[in-house]
Amino acid sequence: MCGIVGYSGQKNSLMILLDGLRRLEYRGYDSSGIAIKDNDKIYNRKAVGEIKELEAKIGDKQIEGNVGIAHTRWATHGTPTEANAHPHCDCQGKIWLVHNGIIENHQKLKKQLQKEGHKFSSETDTEVVAHLIEKYYQGDLAQALKKSLHDIEGAYSFVAFHKDEPSRLVAVKKGSPLVLGLAEDGVIVASDVTAIIKQTRDVIYLEDEEIVDINGSNFDIFNLANEYKKKKAMYVDWSIEQLEKNGYPHFMLKEICGQPETVTDSLRGRLVAEEGNVKLGGLDNIAKELNDMKDLISVACGTAYYACLVGEYMLEEYADLSTKSIVGSEFRYRKYCFNKNSVILGVSQSGETADTLTAIKEANKKYITTLGIVNVVSSSVARATTAGIYNHIGPEIAVASTKAFTSQLVTLSLLTVYLGRIRNMSFPMGQRIVQELEKLQEKISKVLENEEKIAGIAKKYYQVPNFAFLGRKYNYPIALEGALKLKEISYIHAEGFAGGEIKHGSLALIDKNFPSIFLVPEDSVYEKNLGNIQEIKARGGNVIAITTEGNKEVAGIVDEVIYIPKTLEMLTPILSVIPLQLFAYHMAVIKGKDVDKPRNLAKSVTVE
Ligand code: GLU
Repeated sequence: MCGIVGYSGQKNSLMILLDGLRRLEYRGYDSSGIAIKDNDKIYNRKAVGEIKELEAKIGDKQIEGNVGIAHTRWATHGTPTEANAHPHCDCQGKIWLVHNGIIENHQKLKKQLQKEGHKFSSETDTEVVAHLIEKYYQGDLAQALKKSLHDIEGAYSFVAFHKDEPSRLVAVKKGSPLVLGLAEDGVIVASDVTAIIKQTRDVIYLEDEEIVDINGSNFDIFNLANEYKKKKAMYVDWSIEQLEKNGYPHFMLKEICGQPETVTDSLRGRLVAEEGNVKLGGLDNIAKELNDMKDLISVACGTAYYACLVGEYMLEEYADLSTKSIVGSEFRYRKYCFNKNSVILGVSQSGETADTLTAIKEANKKYITTLGIVNVVSSSVARATTAGIYNHIGPEIAVASTKAFTSQLVTLSLLTVYLGRIRNMSFPMGQRIVQELEKLQEKISKVLENEEKIAGIAKKYYQVPNFAFLGRKYNYPIALEGALKLKEISYIHAEGFAGGEIKHGSLALIDKNFPSIFLVPEDSVYEKNLGNIQEIKARGGNVIAITTEGNKEVAGIVDEVIYIPKTLEMLTPILSVIPLQLFAYHMAVIKGKDVDKPRNLAKSVTVE
């Protein structure tokens, strides 16, 4: 998720580590820390906030030591405090480690280790691994780390050292990136090449479950079966700018294309197919309130509000729960919108959206149970709510939200199964949804294959000043989101409509210069949507349709078609929104707009 740098070599490690951390800053983080081995002493500093806070703590003091590790943390377990910042260590302060990712079974492991006498000093999932290594350590750090991996479930990259093993640094990854940089004076290991290329451009990308054992300039790579691997270094000739974006021209495109992985990150450790259910540890403390709940009121702004609208359809259909969504800034004006058995749900990527936060605080004053769906751990919404679910998708950098939106939809579908199974959702239904959620990664990748085609459509239409977006039921909010995305980054006027609503007035706008984008997957409202498309075509309007793979009918009526794989109706929005994100992106690029930082907008709106 966030940033790792480690170094073992002939140079003083401090400057190399700090330089690496600074180059990882673009990823977003909440705290940072370093640990450097100086003979038999360990120099360790941590700070909350920016790298400059860490630098201030280090001051001008000369720090010796040629081996060290450093980290920028994007909290997933435990608040962003100094105690929770990495590196973490074992009981004796000998094994030091930094970690990116999530240890899914950390609670179980921690309980066991505590029983065995280990003392913990942070709330993180990471610290468990330092103690596990301690448990298995018999004079060989690499072997102890390898043993620990058998006990760990989740996604990770680790870099660790042991105080008693002078120039040794050990690293491993699974589902989270790690790269080795081969400099003349030593080896640098990092979560991202940007942290390496000032020292060297010769790098080796590690594969999952490859362990690298570094000793100064020497290193070995082996796998869990102790088989040694010979790997060739490759030369990186990209600029820092390109590297930060992973080769993508914009963060927005990187985030759109990263959705197969981020959706999986939001699901990680939460699906229990054999029980037809989901695990949401963050809701355990309000099980009773959720049992007694009569209705759910979602509060959110912008894109997150549209996610809530999709959530309404999901929760009503599958959890038999009366649900309504209110725009954050309007909440306080609604006199009778809840009662004592209501639950208020705030949805916000940053967790700092002022309008949403104010609504949550109002509800708290009235002793209403509040829930959050938030990406940033320990953000204001996360702290103000009684319970919640984190998105766990790492920082979203582009102002226009894409990966946070699909993650919010995924999280709302998890909430639907959770609440549905408390109420009257059957086991087979729960299992069906869970199994479909498991297939999302592959299906999203399939949708992304349409990028070139969508870029071609954008090229045809980029001079058009107005667009209508239409959809029904689950895809009505997606029409609203598609229109918002286009407005936000390409500054083209667009409006979203419920498919059946356009004939009540707005159809007057349609002519040959006013195209529509219609979400028309094969679902329960398919026939009705076809009727609306015919109405638009009859007025000379062009139609770009998003429909289901294998459908032949739609292509015969409309001007352009984009196909998405079939899935459960309630999950269709997670696929159908992606072509709209790509369309908005390519329209903005063709028009030469500042895609990642659209005019007049801020990433998190912290004013009411
Ligand atoms: N899960 C770990 C934590 O919360 C690591 C987070 C990260 O990847 O930065 O401390």
